[in-house]
Amino acid sequence: MGGVVTVLAAMALLLLSPILIPVAAVLHCVHLRRKRIAARRTRCSGCGELLGIAALHLSDTEWQDYVERLRRDNLHIKFRLVRLVHAICVNCGLRYGYRDAERRFVRVESTDERGAAP
Ligand SMILES: [Zn+2]
Repeated sequence: MGGVVTVLAAMALLLLSPILIPVAAVLHCVHLRRKRIAARRTRCSGCGELLGIAALHLSDTEWQDYVERLRRDNLHIKFRLVRLVHAICVNCGLRYGYRDAERRFVRVESTDERGAAP
């Protein structure tokens, strides 16, 4: 019985994929756009400069480097990672997480977790 349900669920997912995939792509684009808008409007609590798109790029680059190094150093291990830092002030280096529901950046306090805060 469980096998039938699984097959039906897989078929439903396959049939709905022409709708689900574009919807997911649009939602992702909306998320990125909202984050960019928030970054352009948010001032750093440390130096007062606007975070801007450069802060997002700096954070993205650091995150990609971190994940790449993690994978390279730990082959054959699957990770479940949660990204906490989404913007890094290019002027002073303060780190910010993004709250999607509130559409704003919040300062990430220093932790020992790599990729989270200094
Ligand atoms: Zn700053």
